[in-house]
Parts: sequence; structure tokens; C-alpha cells
Amino acid sequence: MMLQDPITTLKGVGPKKAEALTHLHIETLEDLIMLFPRDYQDRRTLTRIGEMEENSTVAIMGRLERVTQNYYQRGRKQALRLYISDGSGGTQILFFHARYLLNYFKTGEDYAFFGRVTRGRSGLQMVHPDFCRAEDWEQGILPVYPLTKGLTQKELRAWQRQVSPLISDMEDYLDEDFRKRNKLVGLSDAIRTMHNPQDRRSFQLARYRLIFDELFLLQTGLAAVRSRTGSRDGIAFAPGADQEEYVRGLEFPLTGAQRRCVDEIMADLEGEQVMNRLVQGDVGSGKTAVAEIAMYKAVKSGYQAVMMAPTEILARQHFERFNDCFTGMGIRVGFLSSGQKAAERRQTLEDLRTGEIRILIGTHAVIQPDVEFYRLGLVITDEQHRFGVDQRIRLREKGENPNVLVMTATPIPRTLAAVVYGDLDVSVIDEMPPGRKPVKTRALTAKDRDKCYDFVERELAAGHQAYVVTPLIDESETLDVRSAQEVADELTARFDGKGGRGAYKVALLHGAMKQEEKDRIMEAFARGEVDLLVATVVIEVGINVPNATVMVIENAERFGLAQMHQLRGRVGRGGDQAWCFLISGSETETSRRRCAIMQESADGFYIAEEDLKLRGPGDLFGTRQHGLPMLMMADLVRHVDILKHAGDEAKAILAEDPDLSREEHRQLREKIESLFGEGFTLEL
Ligand code: ADP
Ligand code: MG
Repeated sequence: MMLQDPITTLKGVGPKKAEALTHLHIETLEDLIMLFPRDYQDRRTLTRIGEMEENSTVAIMGRLERVTQNYYQRGRKQALRLYISDGSGGTQILFFHARYLLNYFKTGEDYAFFGRVTRGRSGLQMVHPDFCRAEDWEQGILPVYPLTKGLTQKELRAWQRQVSPLISDMEDYLDEDFRKRNKLVGLSDAIRTMHNPQDRRSFQLARYRLIFDELFLLQTGLAAVRSRTGSRDGIAFAPGADQEEYVRGLEFPLTGAQRRCVDEIMADLEGEQVMNRLVQGDVGSGKTAVAEIAMYKAVKSGYQAVMMAPTEILARQHFERFNDCFTGMGIRVGFLSSGQKAAERRQTLEDLRTGEIRILIGTHAVIQPDVEFYRLGLVITDEQHRFGVDQRIRLREKGENPNVLVMTATPIPRTLAAVVYGDLDVSVIDEMPPGRKPVKTRALTAKDRDKCYDFVERELAAGHQAYVVTPLIDESETLDVRSAQEVADELTARFDGKGGRGAYKVALLHGAMKQEEKDRIMEAFARGEVDLLVATVVIEVGINVPNATVMVIENAERFGLAQMHQLRGRVGRGGDQAWCFLISGSETETSRRRCAIMQESADGFYIAEEDLKLRGPGDLFGTRQHGLPMLMMADLVRHVDILKHAGDEAKAILAEDPDLSREEHRQLREKIESLFGEGFTLEL
């Protein structure tokens, strides 16, 4: 067995189990080793039944005296009751709806149970504890692994035991000096301890080592990117005020914030150092115009510009706008996406190479190896949080040290921003274009649904369009979550036979559809041929349909604050009053608070901060969203001290060996490259 062997190498892991494991991001034996317990059960001692205490979590072992079956609540709730004794006393174990256990438990045999002690009507008891036959009882501290559908705790423990000999093969990418200096235990020791801790002290040291690693690798990778981009001379664009004629030609005057942002970009572009700038602006704040102006500047200075967007539909929308703006000025705009015809693509690539096309818009198709530019001076990534660091780098490498502009609508809390965007200068567009009426937001419950759709109907009757967003595509998960399909069917029935063209057209869009299918529907909606779009979150990014005035979010309790804010940003883009309705299926304190925040604020930065507070430190801010390696153990809020310490060490190591090319850093370099994804390389 080797670390990189597929998970199916293990006994007991067939295709079905392997598929379930992919949901935990596990494909290789090494991935499994790196899946750490989310909790532990302390089963070092057995408690005598006579000494059990209410609310403690304990292990007991005893003889099964007798089993009874009862029914509660008019026969609806079936309970299995086991009477256990061990000489010091007796207790009851309860299982509900567990008739299948009747065959497992045999009176007169010995069993062990692990669980919380509660008080029932007839004294202390355990409800649904873990259990096994006495002879199978394992003593010690048992790991509790994260699970997913189709996997059991027992299986994961058994597989972990199978792979445990491989832990010694894990190479430590931190050398001994470094470890000593930072009081870090060895990697394989730390990993072994995580799966099988012997005492508190060694467990804490192991955890510290792994948290340190995550934060250190993250910051070393980012610092390396930074040092490669920041210090180099770049292309200086022609000084002067060329861009102003473009600004005058826009259909609107720039807002103060857009103006400031453009000036900052121009200062970068005309300077000797290469530009690396992030434009952070809420949905609808007008980032596109800023990008256009920068591209115009690039073209006027004799260079090409490229812009990459995360979805085909968004890329096409940009293309159409830019084509309108630039073609009249004699500037050719090209488009690339993966769904394109071969001949069309070939022609575009050719015209790009000769410099005929000055501005290229596209999806990740623009970073494919065969895409070559004549003289690339500016690369722009729209909705950059949708791309990985490696993709951002690949785009930049299409040119010789081009200027870089990345745009995002995801406001990032300050603590994280320093880590994630440490390699970028930041411009903030903190002002909305004038005349925007804030979207009126209402939190509703299921009983208001009917009235809500009456309202939607009135908006449709006035010629507007509406979105309805649901969290799931079918009914499989839980019965009370309204699925997109169900909602679409219901609304189709409701609006059938009403409206000007005989019926309002309702369409369904969900994540499992083919890309072309999604694009077709989205385009129909953009053209006004679909009145009401029922969708899962696929519409989250960037799409601009000013005629849509209503956003209904079904099962709002299932959405995060930031997500709801993004969704709401899809409406209120025209001059008409827009509405957002949040329909909660079930209410918890947190979901109520989230909806209240949505009602009271339209400020993305405020919402992001509140989101962080509500989610609390246990839940990370999803670094995935920012295209970074996932943090499994580290928490950027709780572990700020380690974050800082690891950051200092990252800087120190790179100061000595900027691209980690020294032999003693080889393993570290490989580790970082694999963490940040394919195409990410530290080589200069
Ligand atoms: P985002 O920042 O979300 O990418 P967009 O660039 O798509 O926002 O702009 C949203 C809408 O606002 C567009 O319809 C755009 O034409 C309009 N817009 C942008 N800037 C201004 C402005 N200064 N004045 C008026 N409307 C503007
Ligand atoms: Mg945009």
C-alpha cells in the first residue's frame, strides 16, 4: 500500500463506498489519513451502573435481564426497553423505532453501552447509546469521524486502522531545526496522535502542529505569489488622459467611488510597477464600467486586454456590452467559451495571435494552453472568488508580466482580507449608482406564501419578471424542503391561463442541468421570453436583467446571509421598485436573525460582518469561496495568534529562499504546490 493509492485499495471499500467517500474529499489513502476525528469518546473506564450520574457520558457493561416493547402516543411511537444490571445496580436502555434490534439482543448475554445518562420516569436511563457485545468492547479514547450518507462510524474506524501503518510514510516538510524553533512535534507523530490520542497533552501538541501547518502553508503560498508579482517591473501604459474620452462616452456619469477607483487604477497602469489590484464592490455597484475604462486604456496604449468570467452567460453578457461599446470605436472584441464551434474558435485564436482582436472576453476557456496573445497588457478576472489562485496565475501568465485587475462582490472581513488578498492593492466601490431604489425586503413564513405569489402575479401583470430561488432540486433530501421542481410545477399550474400571451411562462433552472441548457433558459429570461424563473442558486453570479423586480427565496432558513445578499442583488437593477421576499419553512433563532438583518440592511460589508458573527468561529469563512486551500483544523478567528506566528515564519523562510528552490525546502515546495492546485508553481 502507498499513500497515493486509490481508496478502493482498502478491504471493504468498493465503488459505492468510494463514491460516498468523495463527499468527504477522500480519493486516496493519504486523504483518508488526513481525515481527522471531529470528536472523541472517552471509553478508558467502565462506570458501575450503581454509580451512574445524570447528564454524564459514560460507558457501562452488564447483563441483559429482559426486553420489553411499548407503544406511546396512540401507538405511533414504538419503544424497545432493555433492562441491564451489573451487580452494583440496574438501568434501562431505550431505543425508539428499533424493532430490528430485537434480533440482536439476547436475554442473559452481556453488552456494553456508551452514551449520556438522562432521567426517565423510572430512574436513570440511556436513550440510543452506542452499543456492542461485551466481548467486542474496545477500551480507550475512540475517534469519532465526520460521516456522510452511506458510511458508518464502524467502517471509518476500521479503514483508519487499515491505513495507519502508512502514517510513518508521511514525509515531514518542516525540518528539525524549524520544528524545534517553533515547538512543533513531528508530522507523523501528530497525525497518529490525532487518530489515536493517549492523553490530553500529546493531543494538544498534535493539534497545534496541524493548525500551524495549515496556516503556515497557506501564508507561505500566498507570500510566494506576492513576491513573484509585487516586486517586478511591469508594463507602463501611456500617460495622459485617453481614458477620459471613453468616460465621456458612457451612458452615465461615474459615481464618486467609481471615479476614485478609476484614478487608482490609472496611477497603477501608468507607473513602472506592475498593477495588482482588487476592486471590491457590492453587487450592482458598477464594477463593469471600471473594467471597461481600464481595457480602453490598455488598447490605447497599444496592448491587448482579456477578461475572464466564471460562467458562460455572464461572459456572454459582458461580451455583448463590450462589443457595443468598442466596435464603434474600431476596437475588435473577441469571445471564447468551451461550448464554441471549432471553426469559430480557430478564427478567434488566429485573430488574437495577430493582434486583430484587441479585447478578449470569455470563460476559463481563455486560459487554455492554445490561447496566445500578440501583446497582452491587462488581465481582468470578474467575480474572482469563483476562481482558484492557480487560475488567476494562469491567466496572468498569458502575457509577459501584464497588469492585473481582479473584481469581486464578496465583501471580506478584515481579518481574512489581509491573508487572502495580501498580494493585492485594494480599491473599494462603496457607493451605488444614483436613482437606485433600495430593494424592499420582507421576511415571511409559509402561511404568507399565497399572498406573496399574488404579489408576484401583480408584478408579472405589470410586465415585470421575477425569480424564485429554492435550495434543492428534488425531494430526496427532506420532505419539508420545497424543491425547485415542486415549486416550478406549482407555479406553472397557478399562472397557467393568466397573463397577456395566454399564460405567464415559468421556467426551471437547476445545477444538475447541462451548461447549454442553463444558458438557453437564462438567455430566454434575459430576453423577456420567460416571466418567472424558478432556480437553485445557479443564478447567484453576475447576471443582469433590469426588468426583474421580484426575488422570492423559498426555505430562506437554508441560505446564508452572504448568499441571500448576493441573490437579492439580482433585482433592483432597473428604475422600478424591487422586492425581495424571504419565506422561511421553519424558524430557528439564527434564521430569524438572518432575515431581520436582511430587512434592515443593504450594505454588503455590514452583512458580511454580521454573517461572521452569526456563524461563529466554529464555522470557517469558507476559504474555498476565495479559491484557497480548505482549512480543516485552523480557524482564522480563534487562532489569530498562530496565524500571526505562522505568517512571520513564512516571511522569514521566503526571505532566505524566495522560490523555495533549496534542496532542504523541496518537500515544502511540493506540498504547497499540491495544496494550491494544478498549475500553481513556485518556479520563477
Ligand atoms: P457589478 O458591480 O455588480 O458588476 P454592474 O457593473 O453590472 O455591477 O452594474 C450594474 C448596473 O448599474 C448596470 O446596469 C450598469 O449599467 C449600471 N451602472 C453602473 N455604473 C453606473 C453609474 N455610474 N450610473 C448609473 N448606472 C450605472
Ligand atoms: Mg459584475
